Amino acid sequence: MGSLKDDWKETGKDLGGAFKQLGKSIVKSGAVVVNKANDWAERDDAKEAARKEAEVEKAREEKAANTVICPNCGAEITDPEAVFCLKCGAKLAK
Ligand SMILES: [Zn+2]
Repeated sequence: MGSLKDDWKETGKDLGGAFKQLGKSIVKSGAVVVNKANDWAERDDAKEAARKEAEVEKAREEKAANTVICPNCGAEITDPEAVFCLKCGAKLAK
């Protein structure tokens, strides 16, 4: 039976081996992480693009909400304060 010191030495050796293995797997997983980071970066780009698209869509909706369609000629009047159609002069329904 070895002393406590020897036990620790063995444990240290085991740990050393484990760390060596860990080192290998860290290098391996490091490559995976880089790939994942690239994935995330791409996903962020996609997210950013989707967010911008949503913003454009929202702006379009807001514009549509402020757009009055002339009942006479069908012109889109984007001025919410407009009372008369800018194209044909017809009174706009409010
Ligand atoms: Zn009109």
